[in-house]
Amino acid sequence: MIDARIIAELKATLGAERVLDTPEDRVVYAYDATWGEALPDVVVLPLSTAEVSATLRIAHRERIPVVPRGAASGLSGGAIPISGGICLCLTRMNRILEINPDELIAVVQPGVVNMDLQRAVARYGLFFPPDPASWDMSTLGGNVAENAGGPRCLKYGVTKDYVLGLEVVLADGSVMRTGGRTIKNVTGYDLTALFVGSEGTLGVVTEIVLKLLPKPVARRTVLAVFDRISDACAAVNRVITSGVLPLTTELMDGDCIRAVQSQRDYGLPTDADAVLLIDVEGWPEALEREVALVRAACETAGAREVRCARDEAEAEELWAARRAISPALAALGDKLGEDITVPRSRIPEMVERIRAIGRTYGLRTPIFGHIGDGNLHPYLICDRSDAAVMALVRQAAEAIFLAAIELGGTLSGEHGIGLAKRDYVARALDPLARAHMLRLKHLFDPHNILNPGKIFAETEG
Ligand SMILES: Cc1cc2nc3c(=O)[nH]c(=O)nc-3n(C[C@H](O)[C@H](O)[C@H](O)COP(=O)(O)OP(=O)(O)OC[C@H]3O[C@@H](n4cnc5c(N)ncnc54)[C@H](O)[C@@H]3O)c2cc1C
Repeated sequence: MIDARIIAELKATLGAERVLDTPEDRVVYAYDATWGEALPDVVVLPLSTAEVSATLRIAHRERIPVVPRGAASGLSGGAIPISGGICLCLTRMNRILEINPDELIAVVQPGVVNMDLQRAVARYGLFFPPDPASWDMSTLGGNVAENAGGPRCLKYGVTKDYVLGLEVVLADGSVMRTGGRTIKNVTGYDLTALFVGSEGTLGVVTEIVLKLLPKPVARRTVLAVFDRISDACAAVNRVITSGVLPLTTELMDGDCIRAVQSQRDYGLPTDADAVLLIDVEGWPEALEREVALVRAACETAGAREVRCARDEAEAEELWAARRAISPALAALGDKLGEDITVPRSRIPEMVERIRAIGRTYGLRTPIFGHIGDGNLHPYLICDRSDAAVMALVRQAAEAIFLAAIELGGTLSGEHGIGLAKRDYVARALDPLARAHMLRLKHLFDPHNILNPGKIFAETEG
C-alpha cells in the first residue's frame, strides 16, 4: 500500500477531489474489458500535462508503480494495476485542442474519445481512419498506446499511420515532444513510432498530433455468401488482386451468422459456412466499377450469392449484424476473444487450424475478423465457473497463438499483449529484438514504475 504521506502529497498537488483512495472508488478502477482485476492503491485524475508530470515525479522518487488508463476498454489487461500503485486515469484530459482543415491535422488530449473526434472533424468534411469497434468509448490515448485498428484499416492502415507527433511524460516526470505536424519528418530516430503501441510501459501520452483525411463521398456495401469458408478467404485475395483495395473485408463464419440471427433477423443465411461484408468507398462513378469487380471476384471464388445493398438503410442493417457478433456470442456462454494475425495467404489454413483446435479441445470456436489484413478473432465459448473447461480453454488459446506464429503471423493484430499474452512474447519475437526492447524499457523507465509486468512478464515487480 502507498504510504498515507504520499497520498496526502498527491492531494495537495492535484486537489483532493481528483485523488481517490476510498475502497469503493478504487474498485471501480480495478478492471478493464478482460476478466482480470487488481486494485490500485490510489486513483489520480489529472487535468493537464503539468499534473501528469507532477504525479510521475512523486512516483519516480518513491518508486511507485503507475498504470496509465483511458476508457479501460482494453482487451489484453493493459490497464489493470497488477502491482497496485497509482492508476493514472486520463479521461478528464479530453479536449480537442485544434482541428486544422488546411493542414489536415488535429491536436488532441489523450482522453478524447475516438468517436468525439470523428464527429468534430466530420463538420469539416474530414475523418480519422482508425475505427476500433470500441470507438464510441475508447480514448485516443488508449488507441495510440495499443496501436488500435479496425475494419477499415485494410484500406487506410492502423493508428500508427495517423500519429504525426506526441507529447509524452516520461517516468521521471520530464516532458518530451516527438515528431511534429508534418507528413514527412526524418529528423532523427522515429520516437513517435516507438511510443505508439508501447501500452503505457515507456511513458504517458499527454498530447497527440493526428493526421486526418478528406471524407470520401460515397460508399457501397456488398454481402457475399459462401458454402465453404475457404472460398470466402480465397475471394478476398481475388478482390485485392483484381485491383480493388476495399475499405473493409469482414468475415463472419457460420457460428457467428447463426448467433446474430438468433437475436433477430438481419437477413443473413443461417445455412452458410461464411459471409463476407465488403465495402468500397470513393467517387460514385468509380464505385460502380469496383462493385462489379468485387462481385466477379466473389462469384469466381465460389460465392453462392452476391448482393449489393440497395441503399444506406440496407447497408446499415448488414453492418448492424456485424456489430452484433460480440453481444450475440455472449448468449452462447462465457467467451474468450482472441486476436491473431497471419499473412493473408495463410488465412484459409489458419481458419482450418482454429476449427481443428476447437474439435481437439471440445470447444466452440466461432470466427470473425478483418481478413483482408490477416486479422482473425476466434472466440472460445466456455463456462468460467468450470475449472476443467477453463484448463482446456487455456490450452486451446495457446495452440491458436502457436499456430499463428508457425504460419508466419503473430500474437496480436490490434488488442495488444498486456497481461493476456505476455507469456508467449518470447516465442513471437526475434531474441535480439526482444533484448533490445527490454533495454529500451530500462532506458526510458530505469526504476520500472510504468505499467510493470505488461508486455514482458519479467518487468513485474
Ligand atoms: C467491444 C470492444 C470492441 C473492441 N474493438 C476493438 C477493435 O476493433 N480494434 C482494436 O484495436 N481494439 C478494440 N478493442 C480494444 C480496445 O478498445 C482498444 O485497445 C482501445 O485502444 C483501448 O483504449 P482505452 O482508452 O480503453 O484504453 P485502456 O484500456 O484504458 O488502456 C489500454 C492500454 O493503453 C495504456 N494507456 C491508456 N492511455 C494511455 C496514455 N494516455 N498514455 C500511455 N498509455 C496509455 C494503458 O496503460 C493500457 O496499457 C475493443 C474493445 C471492446 C470492449
